[in-house]
Amino acid sequence: MSSATGRSRTVSGTDALALLERNDCAFCADGTLVRERYRDNDAVVCDQCGTPAMQLWDPE
Ligand SMILES: [Zn+2]
Repeated sequence: MSSATGRSRTVSGTDALALLERNDCAFCADGTLVRERYRDNDAVVCDQCGTPAMQLWDPE
């Protein structure tokens, strides 16, 4: 028996990005979301249309 899927920690912003990564883009037909820097923030953007699905601003 494995408990590898039993993670219960709080989802952070970085985890949210990881969850979105590799999903289909909601703004075009063929895009896939990839991790990238967008305007100096960590973000996931579409590799086809470049639309950021989510970005994290530095809490400065
Ligand atoms: Zn797209």
